[in-house]
Amino acid sequence: MRFETLAIHADHSKDPASGDVTPPLHLSTTFERESSSNPHGYVYTRTENPTRAALERLLATLEGGAEGAAEAAAFASGSAATAAVFQSLAPGDHVLAPSDVYHGTARQLRTVFAPWGLAVDFVDMSDLAAVEAALRPNTRLLWVESPSNPLLKISDIAAICALAHAVDAVVACDNTWATPVAQRPLELGADLVVHSTTKYLGGHSDTLGGAVVARTGDERFARIRQIQGSLGAVLSPFDCWLTMRGVRTLAYRMRGHTEHALAVARFLAEHAAVEAVHYPGLPTHAGHAVAARQMSLFGGMLSVQTHGGAETAMAVAGATHIFTRATSLGGVESLIEHRASVEGPESLTPQNLLRLSIGLEHPDDLIEDLDQALRTATRG
Ligand SMILES: *Cc1c(COP(=O)(O)O)cnc(C)c1O
Repeated sequence: MRFETLAIHADHSKDPASGDVTPPLHLSTTFERESSSNPHGYVYTRTENPTRAALERLLATLEGGAEGAAEAAAFASGSAATAAVFQSLAPGDHVLAPSDVYHGTARQLRTVFAPWGLAVDFVDMSDLAAVEAALRPNTRLLWVESPSNPLLKISDIAAICALAHAVDAVVACDNTWATPVAQRPLELGADLVVHSTTKYLGGHSDTLGGAVVARTGDERFARIRQIQGSLGAVLSPFDCWLTMRGVRTLAYRMRGHTEHALAVARFLAEHAAVEAVHYPGLPTHAGHAVAARQMSLFGGMLSVQTHGGAETAMAVAGATHIFTRATSLGGVESLIEHRASVEGPESLTPQNLLRLSIGLEHPDDLIEDLDQALRTATRG
């Protein structure tokens, strides 16, 4: 079966008792025992729940393929899923992360996991020589995010996996921006995939969640599963249900997001008020060749640097009518944000940069909105 079909059927969660064609929502926190056994395999919702199990089957299949041995664990947020991967390491282990990794991941590493005993270095992951030079004897994990946030840098996932595996380190790839529609890190050699399902998988800006998908249910995944149940940052049944509902249309939404983002990127690249556009689908993008090789779609995220510094960029964001000024991404509605303000004083993001999550409105309306906002902001 192909991706679109799996996205609709891979959770196998129809209820045989009722014939429901959509998955039942199992809100029960506890499950009946028979003398000494659990006939249905469920005990207590923190450790296992049928609706969560359905979502986990679905995500494992979409990242790992229908015949794969992949397994998934769903968490209360992308950040909780990220944390579970770091928590599965031991104090003293060294982690290599991208210098422009999602700022929440960098903050977690600096403020929680460095004090807890992980050694952490940040490196430009689009530069393979820099990655190789940063490896240490105790390097156990390489964290990859491609495209990166917010500069849309592309890292060569297969090449990074080869470098990591040569020194017995594993690779975890944050696939939130690309989604399994556009990029399958497990097929490129990654050991773990992490998602903020809050974004494209949920797809409608109404459910917060995350997941870790492992190539196999090995010891490492068993540890992540144990962290999920024992620390308890699990995804609620209703959020699992909303996420499955979102995933049904993921392939079609990603095609629309990509088509619209390419149209907007081409428009911005020609605009007199624009200094630079970062979108891997443009042939002028530094990572275009690698992206074309490892992605089947270039996705719906782009960033733009305007002439005239932070003030002009903020004025552009202030003048849009269809783009909503808000953080986050991956919903059907288009969002615009001045990223450096969101990231705070430690941000390395250029001050004239706006990050755009391109939604599913008509692309001509999005282009007209940006055009009038750029004109309004540069008129002074
Ligand atoms: C949003 C995001 C996260 C964090 O996910 P939450 O669900 O907000 O905790 C992690 N990585 C990337 C790339 C993201 O965009």
